[in-house]
Amino acid sequence: MAIERTLSIIKPDATKRNLTGKINSKLEEAGLRIIAQKRIHLSKAQAGVFYEVHAERPFYDELCEFMASAPVVVQVLEGEGAILKNREVMGATNPAEAAPGTIRAEFAESVGENSVHGSDAPETAAVEISYFFAGLELVG
Ligand code: ADP
Ligand code: MG
Repeated sequence: MAIERTLSIIKPDATKRNLTGKINSKLEEAGLRIIAQKRIHLSKAQAGVFYEVHAERPFYDELCEFMASAPVVVQVLEGEGAILKNREVMGATNPAEAAPGTIRAEFAESVGENSVHGSDAPETAAVEISYFFAGLELVG
């Protein structure tokens, strides 16, 4: 499998509970390398652009409010099959359905406040990484 890069976000529910280190440990233990990382506080408008694909969903406004409610940690992960591997480590969107040992099973509070984001395909990963990082910030 090819070396890939994917965008990860540690969401406000997790940064508020000081879970950045524990989540990073799970990512690193899975063989994902954090090649860029920064803590930022998104505006609701910036969150809205990031999640534009969900603009028609009933939870869109609530999602954008939540993502702007406290700082997030945005990061680029690199590794063999990193996109799918990160989705596996994250677990299902709804923590009640997430496999044991996954980040969402252990830390998520609800289907909305579910601790992490991860890109779902190579095309979205490229767009999402470029939304937050310049090429020179990716130190592989
Ligand atoms: P994922 O983050 O697993 O890729 P989606 O792309 O389907 O999930 O949804 C994006 C985000 O929107 C989710 O991570 C979650 O924060 C929020 N979300 C999804 N479904 C719901 C829902 N039914 N109610 C509230 N928030 C939701
Ligand atoms: Mg998604």
